[in-house]
Amino acid sequence: MTGTSTRLPGEARSCWVASAPPTSYPRYERSDRTEIAVVGGGIVGLTTACLLARAGRAVTVLEALSVGQQVTGRSTAKITTQHALVYSDLAAASGLERARLYGEANHAGAELIASLVRDLSIRLRLPGSRFRDPARRSARFAR
Ligand SMILES: Cc1cc2nc3c(=O)[nH]c(=O)nc-3n(C[C@H](O)[C@H](O)[C@H](O)COP(=O)(O)OP(=O)(O)OC[C@H]3O[C@@H](n4cnc5c(N)ncnc54)[C@H](O)[C@@H]3O)c2cc1C
Repeated sequence: MTGTSTRLPGEARSCWVASAPPTSYPRYERSDRTEIAVVGGGIVGLTTACLLARAGRAVTVLEALSVGQQVTGRSTAKITTQHALVYSDLAAASGLERARLYGEANHAGAELIASLVRDLSIRLRLPGSRFRDPARRSARFAR
């Protein structure tokens, strides 16, 4: 290390945050219409709110900063059920059954995103993945 710093060109912002249109929502005021308040407007809160609203519940999302611009807006945004060597690590540490449950939960999450993309006509290309087939995944676990 020489102690000199090199400034890289470009913006130190995620491309999602940099390219998203600005949003502006009203400050929270007491509402008799709200049945359920969801705290946090990241992907977890927004997905929760979306599912509740689709189930007919009156939902208010409470966001302290800006919607979708915290961890969610700074992620690499890939949808995958594979995370490095998580399954072999889980199987070694907690057994095959827990690794399988974790895989099924991840699979359900990926399927939920795919169904929301379809139902809400979101412009997003979701390539198929051989790892989205639970039968193939079980076969891999069994090996
Ligand atoms: C560098 C990086 C890359 C990643 N890449 C991927 C990836 O490729 N694929 C993937 O699936 N996951 C990825 N992840 C993980 C993923 O981004 C997170 O798991 C996910 O975004 C978390 O969403 P969240 O809604 O829980 O959190 P956040 O997006 O942080 O949302 C929480 C929100 O709650 C608000 N909040 C907190 N407290 C309060 C309060 N008291 N009142 C009101 N509002 C509050 C915050 O302001 C924030 O907006 C990545 C994470 C990082 C850091």
